[in-house]
Amino acid sequence: MAKINTVYLCQNCGHSAAKWLGKCPSCGQWNTFVEEYVTKESKSKPLLPSSTKAIPLKEVVSSETQRYVTKDHELNRVLGGGIVPGSLVLIGGEPGIGKSTLMLQAAIQMTGVKVLYISGEESESQIKLRAERISGENPECYICTEVKTQAIVHLAKELRPSLVVIDSIQTLRNEYIESAPGSVSQIRECTSDLMRFAKDENIPVFLIGHITKDGSIAGPKILEHMVDTVLQFEGDRHNTYRILRTIKNRFGSTSEIGIYEMQGTGLRQVSNPSEILISQRDEQVSGISISSALEGLRPLLIETQALVSSAVYGTPQRTANGYDGKRLNMLLAVLEKKCGFRLAVQDVFVNIAGGLRIDDPGIDLGIVSAILSSYHDIPLSDKAVFVGEVGLSGEIRSISRAEQRINEASKLGYEDIYISKSSLSGLNLKKLPIRVHAVSRMDEFFSLVFG
Ligand SMILES: [Zn+2]
Repeated sequence: MAKINTVYLCQNCGHSAAKWLGKCPSCGQWNTFVEEYVTKESKSKPLLPSSTKAIPLKEVVSSETQRYVTKDHELNRVLGGGIVPGSLVLIGGEPGIGKSTLMLQAAIQMTGVKVLYISGEESESQIKLRAERISGENPECYICTEVKTQAIVHLAKELRPSLVVIDSIQTLRNEYIESAPGSVSQIRECTSDLMRFAKDENIPVFLIGHITKDGSIAGPKILEHMVDTVLQFEGDRHNTYRILRTIKNRFGSTSEIGIYEMQGTGLRQVSNPSEILISQRDEQVSGISISSALEGLRPLLIETQALVSSAVYGTPQRTANGYDGKRLNMLLAVLEKKCGFRLAVQDVFVNIAGGLRIDDPGIDLGIVSAILSSYHDIPLSDKAVFVGEVGLSGEIRSISRAEQRINEASKLGYEDIYISKSSLSGLNLKKLPIRVHAVSRMDEFFSLVFG
C-alpha cells in the first residue's frame, strides 16, 4: 500500500525533516525548507528472489572502447573522449548563456545519428527557428515538447535514439509526485527515472539544468551526486566566449575545459585558445606579459595586463580580474618585502585577458612581470613567456608539465621562456626549440629581465 506523506525538504541539499526548520542542519543554509508530498512505499515487503547475477570482472565489457565521438571536439574533450553509452550527463549554466544552443547544435551536427531532443522550455516552432540559424542538418533529429518523465521514457523506448537531450531538468515532473516541477522531490525522482532508463537501455541522456546566482545548480546537490558527469557552461553575457568545464566525471578527468565563441550561426569551437586570449599588439606597451597556464592537460598561453599607479586615497586599491585577489596581495607583499619595491602606496590592477579565470599558480611569474613592467614603465618583449610559481621567500618554485608548456610556447612562435629552474630537471635544454632562461629567485629574475 502506498501512502502519501508530507515532509519538509531542504531545496539546497535535500535534507528531510518532519517539521519546518529555519536553518538546515545538514548544509547550514537558511530558509530553504519547503513542504513536499512524497509517496512512501509500504515497508513490509517480502524479500523476493531477484534475477541479479554476478559476472567475472574480465568478462565485463569496457565502455572505453564504445564511446561515441561527436563532431564537437571541445565536447568530446570535456567528456573524456566522447559520449559514453548509458551515461547521464548534466549540463549546468546560467539562464541565457547558451546551454540549449550547445546541445541543439550537437544534436543537429550528429549527422545520421538518431537524437531525441525534448524541451519543456520552448515550443517546437521556437526550436525549429533556433535550429535554422545553426549550420548543419541531421534528418534523424527528433523534437518533442514534453515534461512528464513517464511519457518521455515511453517515447524514448519506442523511438530508440542514440542520444536523448532534455531541456531542462527543472521543467520535468513525475506524475506520482505532488510537488511542483523544480522542487527537490521532483528533481530527485525525475533524475532517477531517467537514470534507470539510461542504464537499462544503454542510451546516453543529457540533462540541461539552470544554475542559481551563487553558482550552484538550482535544486538539490543530490542531482550532482546522482549523475555520472557534470559539465558547467560558463561565460560572461557581454563576452562572446564560453567555457565548458568538467566539474565531475566518472569516465575521465575533471580538469578539462572546452572553449567556444558565440556567433550568429551557433557556437564555434575554438581549437587554438591562445588566439583569443592574447591580443595583437602593434607597438610595445608596458604592463603586459604572456604566461602559460595549464587547463586540464592543455597548456594555454594567456595574457596578463597590469596597471600600477600612485594611490590617490589613503588605502591603495588592489583589483584582480580572472585571478585570485588574495594571491595578488601575497605577490605584492613578496615584491615589497623580499625585492624592495615600494608597492604599498600604489594602486594595482590585474586583468587576465579573454574573460578566463585562472587558478594555476604557474602564472605567478607572468603576473609579477606585468606588475613590474607597469611599475617601471618598461615594456616586456612580446616574444617572451613567463612561467613559475612565486614562493613567500621570493623563490621561484617548480611547476608541473614544464615540457608541454615550453613546447606550446615555441609552437606559437615565442622565442624566450623564463621558467623556474627546478622544473627543468631531466630536460635537455639544448634540444628545446626556444631559448630557455632558468630562474630560481625573484631578484635574479628581475635583473635578468629588467637589467
Ligand atoms: Zn540543506
